[in-house]
Amino acid sequence: MEKILIVGCKKAMDDVCIGCSRCLVGFNRRKGEFERYTGQDAEVMGLLNCGDCPGPAIVTRLAQIKLWNAPMDEKPTKIHIGPCIVDHCPYKDTLIKKIKAKAGIEVIEGTHPFKPDNIFG
Ligand code: SF4
Repeated sequence: MEKILIVGCKKAMDDVCIGCSRCLVGFNRRKGEFERYTGQDAEVMGLLNCGDCPGPAIVTRLAQIKLWNAPMDEKPTKIHIGPCIVDHCPYKDTLIKKIKAKAGIEVIEGTHPFKPDNIFG
């Protein structure tokens, strides 16, 4: 069973991409970077924000995820980085590098594919 932790931008998760619904719909429908789990047993076990600019707390927050979930014997097997970081974060290179260096599990850049090309077209 794959257990997926999605990591996103704090500002986007709080104020822009309300409810992280596109990531969740993308996962439920196995679209975008979640297509790899088609036909597989997989769950989203958490949605973690980066901790705010410029992301200094990300490693601590990953450790907190481990701590909070230890009593339930839950831990992620895959981390997906949201497009709010991959496509928009000015600190993404450092942030993603830190996550990859410390996670100890596969880190995949991307989640849902629901990014409209234009607003009024
Ligand atoms: S560091 Fe990047 S991902 Fe985190 S809040 Fe700032 S812009 Fe968003």
